Amino acid sequence: MSVLQQIEGLKKEALGELENTGDAGQLEAWRVRHLGKKSRLNEVLRSLSSLPVEDRKTVGGAANRLKAELEESLANREEVLGKQHTASARVEQLDITLPGCRPPIGRLHPVTRVIGEMSRIFTSMGFQVVEGPEVEWDYYNFEALNIPKEHPARDTMATLWVDYENEKGERPMLMRTHTSPMQVRVMENAEPPLRVVVPGKVYRYEAIDATHIPMFHQIEGFAIDTNITMADLKGTLYEFAHRFFGRDRKARFRCDYFPFVEPGVEMSIECAVCKGSGCRLCGNSGWIEILGAGMIHPRVLERVNIDPQKFSGFAFGMGIERIPMLRYGIDDIRLFYGSDLRFLRQF
Ligand SMILES: [Zn+2]
Repeated sequence: MSVLQQIEGLKKEALGELENTGDAGQLEAWRVRHLGKKSRLNEVLRSLSSLPVEDRKTVGGAANRLKAELEESLANREEVLGKQHTASARVEQLDITLPGCRPPIGRLHPVTRVIGEMSRIFTSMGFQVVEGPEVEWDYYNFEALNIPKEHPARDTMATLWVDYENEKGERPMLMRTHTSPMQVRVMENAEPPLRVVVPGKVYRYEAIDATHIPMFHQIEGFAIDTNITMADLKGTLYEFAHRFFGRDRKARFRCDYFPFVEPGVEMSIECAVCKGSGCRLCGNSGWIEILGAGMIHPRVLERVNIDPQKFSGFAFGMGIERIPMLRYGIDDIRLFYGSDLRFLRQF
């Protein structure tokens, strides 16, 4: 048999075997057998030098052509088997007897839920819910609330000022430090009787730690009418506390000072952990302060042209994040804004 016939035989054999390969392992075995160092084709190529010069060209050419053809066929076969493999894997994946993958269900953020719950309690008592701008003028945030420039109360609310100067060179724009500016905005635009609650974001220039963050939420509320007294304030807030924290939680009022109310009070509820006997959470007092309130200062009313001789009102404001913290014993306010689903899914 001439060498050329041998090459022809190798070709038939190799291509025939290739058709029968079924996976990557068999392909590799085929490659070693027909294209490897010890393959017969390689032997032919190595023995070229021993052939008569006139045959070298024809035999060498035929052997190299076969080598190229086998390499190409191998590549094609690899591709075909690869496709079959992925297709069969896809069929295997679809096992209709397996339970389905439940897509995660979204839910409201705990702070949003508390705002909703509080708003519902107050609207059931005749309050209406309004929202206001978070970027505010100095006038509404301080001035109109009886906190003029140089008033020490400004120092208690570290303010984020907006980088904006008016023609007088003043910086009158800020991120509101409380929700109280909306008291003034509502009073400017509506006549008493008024009963309004204002939930929303407020901002302070504060370093972040377990109890401080630069953005948090408050809910503000006020009522103005003829003959509104401290008894209305207490009645409204007792009712709120009982409905929100439960009938059995005691609540109490004590004197406090805020520039825009006179007199001012703070309301505390009985500590949920120690039931009033004193623990670490309540600083051994048995009580936890939840809000500040008071009778609206006559000067605030005068400024918006409401006659303090004829009308009076009460106002209150409370931090929102504190409430679920107290309710669920959360000791780090940063958790609310850390986007950790393990935390957020608990509510
Ligand atoms: Zn306690």
